[in-house]
Amino acid sequence: AAVIVAIDGPSGTGKSSTSKAVASHLGLSYLDTGAQYRAMTWWMINNGIDVSDAVAVADAAGKPVIVSGTDPAAPTITVDGEDASGPIRTQDVTAKVSAVSAVPEVRSVVTALQRAVAAAAEGGIVVEGRDIGTTVLPDADVKIFLTASPEARAARRSGELKGQEAVDVSVTREALIRRDAADSSRKTSPLAKAADAVEVDTTELTLQQVVECVVTLVEE
Ligand code: C5P
Repeated sequence: AAVIVAIDGPSGTGKSSTSKAVASHLGLSYLDTGAQYRAMTWWMINNGIDVSDAVAVADAAGKPVIVSGTDPAAPTITVDGEDASGPIRTQDVTAKVSAVSAVPEVRSVVTALQRAVAAAAEGGIVVEGRDIGTTVLPDADVKIFLTASPEARAARRSGELKGQEAVDVSVTREALIRRDAADSSRKTSPLAKAADAVEVDTTELTLQQVVECVVTLVEE
């Protein structure tokens, strides 16, 4: 049967690296739901929508065509047919994504997309995000909630950004804390641990250890 694995948690906990490695190891598809919210945000910016105007964002939510490629070895994302994998990682998109993803109409559009991708993944899928275990796929076979200390998260995020843009760990740390606070406090499907999720604190673990832990939970 197609196994569905939900991996949630705040940024910098190793969600993406873990999810891709687990999917590759188990031969499953992979979906990065954060990339979809980033793609929606990038489209809003490109189309002159003021992201602090929730009404304008809600009105536009159904317009962009967002398509995700689910091979864990080479995930892709396009918006209206255009490759968005680079531009969705800029600091501008990162700074604006929480406001866009807090708009209920955006969440209903993106959630429907996520459910369709999961249903189409015949061999099973690993889906990573903030509300997968609680809202998007509440019947997932395995639910994981990753955590890590704020220091470990900021260090990992800075490492990812290195070479891409000028980064300062303290600025990264502040931005990360602000984004997680916004994601956790929004009214519609906030960042949250499902009651039946297994929490894994990755602070003192290597990526390989986290992957082994999750793979074991899936194989049980
Ligand atoms: O995972 P990533 O950091 O790329 O996610 C970017 C943003 O997308 C999050 O800060 C959050 O605002 C939003 N998001 C969400 N629900 C998800 C995944 C991401 O609201 N399931």
